[in-house]
Amino acid sequence: MQKKFDFDLFVIGGGSGGVRTARWSANLGAKVGICEEDRYGGTCVIRGCIPKKLMVYASEFSHEEEGSRPYGWTTKGISFNWSQLKKSIDQEVERLSQIYQNLLTNKNVEVFFERGKILDQHTLLVGSKKITAKNIIISSGSKPTTINIPGNEHILLSQDVFNMEDLPPRILVVGGGYIAVEFAGIFNGLGSKTTLAIRKKYVLRGFDQGLRKFLQEEMIKKGIDIKTETTIEKIEKKEKSFLVHTNTNEVLECDAVVYAIGRVPYTTGLGLEKAGVKVNEKGGIIVNNYFQTSIDNIYAIGDCIDKVYLTPVATTQGTFLSEYLYNSKDFKMEYKNIPSAVFSQPPLATVGLSEEDALEKGLVVDIYESSFRPLKHTLTGLSEKTFMKLVVDNKTQKILGAHAVGKDSAEIMQGIAIALKCGATKQDFDGTIGIHPTSAEEFVTMRTKKG
Ligand code: NDP
Repeated sequence: MQKKFDFDLFVIGGGSGGVRTARWSANLGAKVGICEEDRYGGTCVIRGCIPKKLMVYASEFSHEEEGSRPYGWTTKGISFNWSQLKKSIDQEVERLSQIYQNLLTNKNVEVFFERGKILDQHTLLVGSKKITAKNIIISSGSKPTTINIPGNEHILLSQDVFNMEDLPPRILVVGGGYIAVEFAGIFNGLGSKTTLAIRKKYVLRGFDQGLRKFLQEEMIKKGIDIKTETTIEKIEKKEKSFLVHTNTNEVLECDAVVYAIGRVPYTTGLGLEKAGVKVNEKGGIIVNNYFQTSIDNIYAIGDCIDKVYLTPVATTQGTFLSEYLYNSKDFKMEYKNIPSAVFSQPPLATVGLSEEDALEKGLVVDIYESSFRPLKHTLTGLSEKTFMKLVVDNKTQKILGAHAVGKDSAEIMQGIAIALKCGATKQDFDGTIGIHPTSAEEFVTMRTKKG
């Protein structure tokens, strides 16, 4: 006789990946439960992508105001109120979190507001309640990396920024990745004197070199002080400010220090070791191509598997896994050509191989590049420029990579990513009629190879 469980599936973690998996599986007929110790929505909705992008919008208004005068607008000076922004964002995040919960309850998923811990292959402790499930999916996400230096108790991490009571007049952001670059743009746009300290010569390690240099110059033009090849050795608290000592013997005075130096899987305290679920050296749950862990009825998806830390990747993994478990659909998760954007100012977006990646793979490539002042700024007088680049396989003429820095680049890149998925060639791009006048049309009008 088959053993009866409380649930067919129990999901640990109510972020984007967990919620998608829970409601999708329930829709396919599974009896599903889910637990979350914080609000439903996870990093992306509560303390990541969504509030961050709203802050990006907030900070862009200051540049808009500058450029509006040649277009005929007169403004009587503008001022910014952090408390108002915080209140608006908090309200929106609360609304979205509620929607996430409704998505679950509408599909009859049983929702728990507790931390979950695995006791054995089929048993969980959810709050103080023992629950059994045939399958368990861990979608516990990730958390920011911290650093061990004197004064690290003064550091703010990405999630702390959303709870700040005031906007610091002078702020130091440490790190050269997605989050640091995005926060530097936000603070600068909102009016803080912003310094960004990076270990390398250029921001955004791993992205196309041309893109990195171009974005860095644009960030500097907007007023961000970028300290390159700089690491922080000590943070000292003065009365109201901080003195930050660097490896270059500089002492930077600021009112807040924000660290964004990567993220690590959030897998501690889940009972993984006792249950026999294997993890890597970063705590990332080891899974096979079907997201199955070392215990065959326990699966894991999203940031906690330490593969690609992006919301749409987690939700895709969740959908595939639900279809596999409850609709017998086989799948192969594809990690090639995942488009992504950094909501810097101007934003950066990319899909496919960088020039350096392509060369490292031994490919011979044709490079097409263009940098120009977008039409809007011919009147605003602002010096912001746009950069676009195509990496093309010389032999097959397939587009291997597309990269851009400039207004709307994230919106443009989503469409280009479809073209890459379809295996588009340079001739396909050249044969596509542009939309005039746009920046996007540059992608179909670049004709001269870089020499
Ligand atoms: P990233 O992994 O993107 O970058 C980490 C950065 O921190 C690197 O520049 C690295 O520098 C630097 N760093 C690492 N250790 C130290 C240190 N000890 N001192 C100083 N600098 C250090 O990390 P993020 O935290 O920015 O983002 C984490 C992940 O979250 C991203 O990889 C991304 O997947 C996701 N994300 C995506 C977003 C989006 O899609 N728009 C937005 C935000 C996050 P170095 O180059 O010198 O090694």
